[in-house]
Amino acid sequence: MASRRTFLQQTGLLASSLAFSPLSIASAQKKDRLGVALVGLGYYSTDLIAPALQLTKHCYLAGIVTGTPAKAETWVKKYNIPEKNVYNYDNFDKIANNPDIDVVYVILPPSMHRDYVIRAAKAGKHVWVEKPMAITEKECQDMIDACKQNKRLLAVGYRLQHEPNTQEYIKFLRDGKIGKIKMVSCSAGYFDGRTNHWKQKKEMGGGVMYDMGVYVLQGARLATGEEPISVTAQQYTTRPEIYRNGLDETTMAQLVFPSGARAAVQTSFGINMNFLHVTGEKGFLKMEPYSAYNGQKGEATGGVRIQHPYEVPRQQAMQMDDDSLAIMNNKPLIAPGEEGMRDIRIVEAIYRAAQSGQSVKLT
Ligand code: NAD
Repeated sequence: MASRRTFLQQTGLLASSLAFSPLSIASAQKKDRLGVALVGLGYYSTDLIAPALQLTKHCYLAGIVTGTPAKAETWVKKYNIPEKNVYNYDNFDKIANNPDIDVVYVILPPSMHRDYVIRAAKAGKHVWVEKPMAITEKECQDMIDACKQNKRLLAVGYRLQHEPNTQEYIKFLRDGKIGKIKMVSCSAGYFDGRTNHWKQKKEMGGGVMYDMGVYVLQGARLATGEEPISVTAQQYTTRPEIYRNGLDETTMAQLVFPSGARAAVQTSFGINMNFLHVTGEKGFLKMEPYSAYNGQKGEATGGVRIQHPYEVPRQQAMQMDDDSLAIMNNKPLIAPGEEGMRDIRIVEAIYRAAQSGQSVKLT
């Protein structure tokens, strides 16, 4: 684990997070495994995060927060969760008095992230929050501030930053193996057949740019190692009866970076696609699939192959173990709140660019 962290520091993946000084938490440091409470027991909690918490070495599933008593009953039995560690959305704040819970992991629709992160921080818990971090940059800042004020750490569930294929391609690029980066193309999309889910509700943080869009922004930012200075964007839909009033089914955006590198990113709820292609002065790198739960594969100039296999949900377990160790050892997080906020700032600029048809500056 130490070597993975060192690698991230060397490659600069951690550079941004180093500015965020972790806070010493005496109670957490005494434990060798952190107790995690999940807020929201939907698809991602049920199918990925709870199973991953059966694989983790440095944290475990200690509690749940749900508005559905029937789900609570099922989870208590399945995961042997003590009744005293079960909360609903009304009595959630009482979690402050529960020493079993060190970390609250917010896995709700994005419009609810801000409030639950702040409530968790005020309850004295470290917080992990799913992507997209929130709907606006302001909400992200509020979440970061609340955690700082309460001396708690805030991590974003950017699972890819914890997985070995992603870490290897970033190192390859940072080592200058294909020279100066000139162009990045990154796509992530799937066909979402739902019509009435929160992903199809603008006010709940729906829209593909928030959802799969943060992955393509991560691809562009991590491949170049830079933050974009301006964006242009276009959006279209093949299902206007669902995707209307600013809710996007497909978004394409073009990013300009300070070095002159450019990125074209595409994301969609209507098209299955998933790749990252990086062109440098001296060659190329390609990852496909790029953001899946497993099976990432890469190739690059010089006959390079990148392929570290693992089973689902190992990726989520690596993420939660990394974040637990950061908390327990008072070390920087790989993907702190500031990293989630960088993407949301760009997402907001992309929506403005698409609506106006103009280039939007990010400086
Ligand atoms: P989901 O709809 O399956 O689950 C959402 C949960 O929130 C449900 O348990 C629901 O009951 C609860 N909820 C509480 N109040 C609600 C309300 N007013 N409206 C709707 N639901 C409400 O969603 P999900 O797919 O589990 O996504 C949850 C979060 O996890 C999102 O932020 C999503 O982007 C993220 N996610 C991340 C990944 C990843 O790979 N990192 C994958 C899937 C989802």
